[in-house]
Amino acid sequence: MKPTRNIAILGSTGSIGRQTLDIVAEYPHLFHAWLLVARNSAELLIEQARQFRPHAVVIANEAHYPAVKEALEPLGIEVMTGSKAIADAVTAPEIDTVVTAMVGYSGLEPTIKAIASGKKIALANKETLVVAGDLITRLVAQSQSALYPVDSEHGAFYQCLVGERHDAISKLILTASGGPFRTWPKEKLAEATVNDALNHPNWNMGNKITIDSATMMNKGFEMIEAKWLYDVAPHDIEIVVHPQSIVHSMVEFVDGSVKAQLGLPDMHLPIRYALGIPERLPSACRKMTVDDYCQLTFERPDYEKFPLLTTAYHAADAGGNTPCVMNAANEVAVAQFLQGNIKFNDIYNIIEKTIAWAPHIEQPTYDDYVASNDEARRYASTLI
Ligand code: NDP
Ligand code: MG
Repeated sequence: MKPTRNIAILGSTGSIGRQTLDIVAEYPHLFHAWLLVARNSAELLIEQARQFRPHAVVIANEAHYPAVKEALEPLGIEVMTGSKAIADAVTAPEIDTVVTAMVGYSGLEPTIKAIASGKKIALANKETLVVAGDLITRLVAQSQSALYPVDSEHGAFYQCLVGERHDAISKLILTASGGPFRTWPKEKLAEATVNDALNHPNWNMGNKITIDSATMMNKGFEMIEAKWLYDVAPHDIEIVVHPQSIVHSMVEFVDGSVKAQLGLPDMHLPIRYALGIPERLPSACRKMTVDDYCQLTFERPDYEKFPLLTTAYHAADAGGNTPCVMNAANEVAVAQFLQGNIKFNDIYNIIEKTIAWAPHIEQPTYDDYVASNDEARRYASTLI
């Protein structure tokens, strides 16, 4: 039998984190949840630690530290707090794979630390690649690390590309569900409420990515994520709306052939695949039947209704710190929208204004990214 692999789950209390623990529980002989990290959900973190018996946990918000420590230290589980503790904990030599399932920019620093210490990265936190894809891919190339995508579309590209040469790729076809507003008229979006935007037709995800799906910023992020993961130019990545979310993405090759990867819309599948690479892990999960795929439809995205798609292509072409600025403004705007402080269409306006304002840096260092993120957040906040 294979030795157990120690897994660190950054964001274990979130949507991806909880589903990753389901996979750990499904294959107890393969995986051990060695480190669990959360920010505010102290009770759930304690419950997870009681069940999975990690070596250590980090509760990022220091206010919850005493309660978590009191509950878990008697079990012999090390308890740490603060964001620096996350970045330090991921470098432990016992850890084999780090699942990055924190939200937004907060994932960048621990991911960099994990790469530098040669960990395999099961990457859910796509914002890491949006913000600093050049830096991350360079670090991976210089280290023993490797990136395995958790995002379903990028897992699909990965599967379509097994056994293929890079120069055989002619186009990546990135599928999108279209989100909750696919069938809404453009004019109605001005009045879209938080509940409307959170009502995703196919996927049950954390709030931030659900809003990103409603604006289709998420698909723009995924185009940039694909550019870095597969070294394909943005104009060779085509976005196609596929409301059933069964075809997770496709690759067109130079001979005109197209490969697609299909599966039920269930994040356990791409998480299982990312953790299993290079093997496929047998599962008793529900398999597709013809009823699931008898009607698959595809349509062009509406770039007028979802202008953030164009914003993302422009940001990818501009390169440098522009995608980082776009991400920062988006994080501020989405948080404000979720709190009911701005309207749905303001998300786009805030992002565009922040990009227009921000000084462009052609080849940012890590410190430039930190500063660009801080400054863009500050500027975006003045627009609320
Ligand atoms: P959730 O909001 O459901 O979960 C986020 C997790 O990260 C929680 O455990 C949260 O802790 C923790 N967290 C957030 N900020 C910090 C921080 N500063 N320090 C430590 N922990 C933190 O998000 P999702 O699971 O939906 O998404 C996670 C990532 O995966 C995102 O980047 C998203 O884009 C990506 N992704 C998600 C998919 C999905 O289906 N959900 C699909 C593809 C990609 P707590 O709750 O305890 O505060
Ligand atoms: Mg996705």
